[in-house]
Parts: sequence; structure tokens; C-alpha cells
Amino acid sequence: MKNLHNALLLKQLYQLKALGYTYTNTQPFSYEEQNTLKLPNSLVALKQQAINCHLCALSKSRNKVVFGEGNEQALVMFIGDAPIDLEDSMGQPFLGRGGEMLTAMIEKVLRLSRQEVYITNLLKCHPLATQEADESQIHTCKAYLFKEIELIKPKIIVTLGEKAYHYLTNDKSNLKEIRGTLINKENHTIIPTYHPNFLLKNPSLKREVFMDLQKVKSLL
Ligand code: SF4
Repeated sequence: MKNLHNALLLKQLYQLKALGYTYTNTQPFSYEEQNTLKLPNSLVALKQQAINCHLCALSKSRNKVVFGEGNEQALVMFIGDAPIDLEDSMGQPFLGRGGEMLTAMIEKVLRLSRQEVYITNLLKCHPLATQEADESQIHTCKAYLFKEIELIKPKIIVTLGEKAYHYLTNDKSNLKEIRGTLINKENHTIIPTYHPNFLLKNPSLKREVFMDLQKVKSLL
């Protein structure tokens, strides 16, 4: 709660700065505002809110906010950790060699096009190579991800990499041990697997991801 309070305080200070304030002695943020804070109920409006978001320090280093994309009624949602350089400059998730690998897996194993699924990240802004995203930034940004899940209502969520799994489920199990497990939540099934960028460095693990996606296919 304290993180959200601080993030909202920062947001309000940015807004005051944009209006030309260099100093303020007013109470910049109230807890009442926090209690009434609501995210929009449409993906278009949610994306717009993320594009204008300054709730954490990553807004200072990003070029473009990388919001999720794909089918708004997708049965399968893929969740990675954070945008890479190329995605930061293009404003789209899963580009480059990792993105190509993900697209190939979706097409070859699930027999779906990339446009038929929804692809997003835990963090919507790119942390610099020298800057590991901290917990408070992830916790703040998670609200966007949870709202995407609420709006899309996917049947299956495939988490790509350890971070996406840990922060989505609050389970800190080692990915090596948990991958491929079907975790049933109230409205969807979560399947953790490796991130395509990790597979680029460890191609021998492709077989495991193939098996995990076969499970997704069998649930569709
Ligand atoms: S990472 Fe998320 S919370 Fe932080 S500025 Fe970007 S959209 Fe906002």
C-alpha cells in the first residue's frame, strides 16, 4: 500500500511539474484519492492510461510504453517480464529473435496465428541494461497486467520466465521445477514455461517448452 501511495504521490508531482510548478506546499496526495483510484474498463482506455503513466521511475528511461497486443477475446495469454531495447523503441511486445521464436511456437504448436492470442509483459516500460527493475516498480505496474487479465478473461495464461510466474502467483518456486505444471485458478489455468530469450541462449530447452505448449494445445 505504501508503494502505491508513493507512486501516486510521484505521479501528482509530475503532473504539477508539467503544469509549471517548481514548488508546492499543498498536500499533494490524499488517501481518499487512492481509495477511489480505478483503472478503465476497456483495453483502449487502459493502454492510453499506461502510455501516459509516470507511476514509477521507469517512465524516465523508457522511449515507448509497451502495452499488450493481440486478440481482446483470446483464449490464451502469454506474459513475459519486461520489454527489451527493440520493443522499447517500437512500442510493441516480443519483437526480435525472441519474438520470432514465440510466434513460431504459437503457429507450429498451437496452430494459431499470433493475432489470435494476447501477448503482454509484467512491466510495460523497459528497464535499462544497467538497471534491474525493483520490486516496487513491478508491484506498481502489476495493476495494469491484472486489469488486462480481468478484461480479456483468458482460459489459459502461459507465463514466460521466472519473474512473470513469481509475480503473477506469489509462488517463488524455481522455474525448473515448476515449469509445465497446470495451476488452476478461479477463472483460468496458469502454465509456467521458459522465456524465448532464455531459449535463445539455451536451445536444448526448446523441447521442454514444446511439451508445455502441447499441454496448452490439449486444453484448447
Ligand atoms: S513501468 Fe508501469 S508503472 Fe512504471 S511508468 Fe511504466 S507503465 Fe507506469
